[in-house]
Amino acid sequence: MCAFDGHRIWVEASGNMKGRYGVEIPAGFEVDDFQPGTEVALDPNSFKVTDILDRGKDAEFDSTETDVTFQDVGGLNDVISSLKSNVGAQLDDSKREKIEDWGMDMDKSILLIGKPGTGKTHMVKALSNEYDAEIFMINGPQLVEKFIGEGAKKVKRLYEQARDSEKPAIVFIDEVDAVAKKRLDERRHGGEEVERTMSQLLSELDGLDNENDSNVISILATNKPDVMDPALLNRCNAIEVPVPSNEAKEEIFQVHTRSLDLEDGVDLGILAAEMEDDYTGRDIKQVVRQAAVNSLERTDDASEAEVQTEDFMTAIQELREGNLGMEKDFLSEEQTPREMFA
Ligand code: ADP
Repeated sequence: MCAFDGHRIWVEASGNMKGRYGVEIPAGFEVDDFQPGTEVALDPNSFKVTDILDRGKDAEFDSTETDVTFQDVGGLNDVISSLKSNVGAQLDDSKREKIEDWGMDMDKSILLIGKPGTGKTHMVKALSNEYDAEIFMINGPQLVEKFIGEGAKKVKRLYEQARDSEKPAIVFIDEVDAVAKKRLDERRHGGEEVERTMSQLLSELDGLDNENDSNVISILATNKPDVMDPALLNRCNAIEVPVPSNEAKEEIFQVHTRSLDLEDGVDLGILAAEMEDDYTGRDIKQVVRQAAVNSLERTDDASEAEVQTEDFMTAIQELREGNLGMEKDFLSEEQTPREMFA
C-alpha cells in the first residue's frame, strides 16, 4: 500500500516489519509513480524504498529454460536411475496415462538430501530437459526473506502455474528447510508467515497426491533433513545425493573438461584423487575453470593453449587456500536479498 501525504509516501509493511512507515521518494522516481496499491521493495535496514515492483510480473514465475542433459551430470548414476523410475514415468505423457489406467500410486514428491554443490539443481534441470518438462524453481530462504508475508501466496501461485502448464511440470524448491523447521517455536520465530508458507506447501503436496491426473511433480532439496518437520518428510520419498567418491569426481572432471584442449597425459583420475575430502561437483567445476584460466595466462598465443596437469594442481591449491569461492559467496548473497514487499 502507498499513500502520499505531501511530504512522504506511507508504506505498509507486512511480516516481521509489520507497520506503517513514512519514507522519502527515492531518487529516480516521481510522486505519481506511487499510487495506493503500488507494491514496493523496502530495504529493512535503511527503510528506503529501493524499487517499485510490477505486481503482475512479480506474481508470475518464469519456468527455467535449460539445455543441461544427464550427460552433463557426473557420478550420480544411481540417483538419476532412482529419479527416472520415480518421477520419469510420471513426466512422460503416455506412461502417465498407463499409470492412471492401472491405478498406480506413485510418489509425486521427492526430497533430495545432499550437501550444497553436489549437483541437485543441476540434475533436476537435466531431468526437466530430458523429459521436456517445465521447471519452476524457488528457494526456501527466498520465500522467508524476500517475500516476507507473501510466502504462502507465492507457493500457491507456483503450484497454480505448474498445474496450468501445458507440459508436465516440476516444482523445485531448494533449501526447503528454511520453511520447514520441525520446531514450531523456530518456525514462529520467523513469523507466522513461515508457518503459513509451510501449511500451504503441505496442502499443495497433499493436493498433488490426491490428483490422479496431475502432471506436476514436486522436488524439494535440503542439506538439513534433521531439522525438518516430519510432516514434510513423511510426504516425500527421500533420495540421498552423496558427496562424490573419487570415481564420481573423475566423471565430473570428464564432464567439465569435455570441451577443453587438454595436454596429452593429463590424468583426470589423479586430479580426482587430489581432490579428496568433501569437495563437491561445484568445487570441481571451479577448479576446471581456474585451470583453464591459468593455461591461458601461461600461453602467449591463446589459440595454442592447452590445459596442463600443473594448471589443475595450481587451481586445486588455490581452492584449498580458499581463493576460489567466488561463485559460492556470490550465490549465498543472491539468495538472501535484503528486500521485502511493503
Ligand atoms: P546443489 O543444487 O546441490 O547445491 P548445484 O546443482 O547448484 O548444486 O551445483 C552447482 C554447479 O556445480 C552445477 O551448475 C554444475 O555445473 C556443477 N556440478 C555439481 N555437481 C555436479 C555433478 N555431479 N556433475 C556435473 N556438474 C556438477
